[in-house]
Amino acid sequence: MAEPGAAAHHDHGGGELRTVEEVRASILDRVGVLAPIELPLQEAWGCVLAADMIAGGDMPAFSSSAMDGFAVRAEDVSEATSDSPASLRIAGHSLIGHMPEATVGAGEAVRIATGAPIPAGADAIVPIEYCVVREADVLVIRSFPEGASVRPVGQDVRSGEVLVPEGRRLAGPDLGLLASSGRNSALVHPRARVAVLSTGDELVDPGRQTAFGQVRDANAYTLFGGLRDAGATPYLGGIIPDDPEALKEAVLGLAVRADCFISSGGVSVGERDVVKKAFFKRGDVDFYKVAMQPGMPQGFGRLDDVPYFGLPGNPVSVFVSFEVFIRPALLKMMGRRDIFRPHIMTTLDANISGPRDKLQFARVRVWREGGEWHAVPTGPSASNLLSTVSRANGLALIPLGVDTAPAGSQVRVMLFRALEEGS
Ligand code: AMP
Ligand code: MG
Repeated sequence: MAEPGAAAHHDHGGGELRTVEEVRASILDRVGVLAPIELPLQEAWGCVLAADMIAGGDMPAFSSSAMDGFAVRAEDVSEATSDSPASLRIAGHSLIGHMPEATVGAGEAVRIATGAPIPAGADAIVPIEYCVVREADVLVIRSFPEGASVRPVGQDVRSGEVLVPEGRRLAGPDLGLLASSGRNSALVHPRARVAVLSTGDELVDPGRQTAFGQVRDANAYTLFGGLRDAGATPYLGGIIPDDPEALKEAVLGLAVRADCFISSGGVSVGERDVVKKAFFKRGDVDFYKVAMQPGMPQGFGRLDDVPYFGLPGNPVSVFVSFEVFIRPALLKMMGRRDIFRPHIMTTLDANISGPRDKLQFARVRVWREGGEWHAVPTGPSASNLLSTVSRANGLALIPLGVDTAPAGSQVRVMLFRALEEGS
């Protein structure tokens, strides 16, 4: 059943199925990397650096002592032994955070604390345990080579070197390095701000009483978690009734503050194709069927130049569609280089059956045993069974052309949760 006037534009609006790979590639082609912005370090955490950060000076900026002791000239202690110590005049102190009180001339030493600047003239540190203080003099009982216990200028990073390269996703140590170089902000690709709408007359917010036949809005929360996990900033726009005008208004109202929209529900062929009716005439959102299970009906396009994903309403379809299409697109937008979940080969511990003409994403629990990865389905494949996703840590990919992957066979699994958390 085709929409009137839709046939010409929507090549895939009828029965034809597009492959997951083709749909994902075309979505990735149609989303761009978000323009970089300068963000304070705390906000830049987890974001991808958009330009090489160059050291503006040597790090460390001054040479300092690695020990408590005395700063000396190595040549003055080169003959020192416990039987015949070198006697040096104490010329002053060097304290952390201050200019040394004195320089070190021939026959002199400056008392120094760990981290304090090396006084001019000194080229070695004698640790305190090799020193005997005698009023104004210090006796040194061992020789030390030039550079002993000295942390040289620029040992960590040289002025002009790349501190943190473009493309790095900023973690704690990167922020620390930038901070110590004197930066309090960084040019990064920002987090994608993603507006989420749930469509359906039957939906109510969680925490509300449901009348018979009403359904609580699960999808907004599934998506919220997925978005946070991807490093995006979710904005839950609430429940929209099955009314094309209401949806259009909600989406356009949010357009100014979103880098991406997701709606769930109302994309299948049927009387209440609210999303299609709201958008297909604008010509820039396509609705099509993908050879996948769950998640067959999908919509994607741009609205006011903002990427828009129209997902089916079933909770499992929402999760799988998010993982398969939306997450990689958002990671690309945020400048990430590794945009796909890790895949591993596992041994199936039970049969998984599914449609031969679709790529099936079966919810599985994966664990490691005897040096091998195992996977077992977490429940039946119906796309309304959200507990089967909650219990899972992976999606097993049962390829096109296979209707049963038998127990004992090898299947590829996409991991979506840290392994220790799923068990
Ligand atoms: P639809 O794609 O709108 O036909 O919805 C398919 C199924 O998913 C129906 O049973 C809906 O009640 C259910 N559904 C749609 N949206 C949500 C939602 N946000 N949370 C939970 N279930 C939903
Ligand atoms: Mg609906």
